Amino acid sequence: MITHPDHELLWLSCAAKRCCSLRTVRPTGGDIWRIATRLHVPPESFLRSIPAEPDADDGVLLAPTSQPVHLALARRATKGRQAACVFLMHIREEVARCGLGELRPLPCQAFPGRDACGTLRIREDHGCTCRSWNLAELDRPAVAALLAQEAAERARDRQLVHLWNEQVKSDEGSKYSLADFCGYLLYAYTAQMAEATAGGTA
Ligand code: SF4
Ligand code: SF4
Repeated sequence: MITHPDHELLWLSCAAKRCCSLRTVRPTGGDIWRIATRLHVPPESFLRSIPAEPDADDGVLLAPTSQPVHLALARRATKGRQAACVFLMHIREEVARCGLGELRPLPCQAFPGRDACGTLRIREDHGCTCRSWNLAELDRPAVAALLAQEAAERARDRQLVHLWNEQVKSDEGSKYSLADFCGYLLYAYTAQMAEATAGGTA
């Protein structure tokens, strides 16, 4: 009988966590809300802005004519080491752990899986130098469910970004910070989560 190693355990058992230094992680709005509200930290303390393509439908405007940006997990450079995700904890040389545990953003939990038009694939940009990954190692139903949740949250984010951008563009002199947008995102997600809880769908 072919057994499928537990994808989560395989990932956790790697001490190097090079993927957390090499990848740019873009959390969903839901990820940002979960991390910020459960850790009681402002989103801007763990996020940075990165340029988005000019025609990206989820690119955030901080001024009417500014280049749109995406939100990514911040990186932290430590002495003698490559800059890594702000949540990566180095325990000792070559031993690191994600400090978020179950709060890891959805793209991190589904890693190295990706959705290719409804088909589960291994990300080409996984950046792992420790081992090679193959589909048989992934917990397919679990990864597919995570990717579906990520897609749903990104669709919600696109709507929120659209409303935000319309507001920014309507005021020629407006100028906003990353913290301003994060405040808007948290407010919108908090309202949506409260609605879902009241409706019994949370
Ligand atoms: S959130 Fe955790 S798993 Fe994701 S890149 Fe950062 S350290 Fe790695
Ligand atoms: S992808 Fe590679 S570097 Fe990242 S946790 Fe897995 S084995 Fe380690």
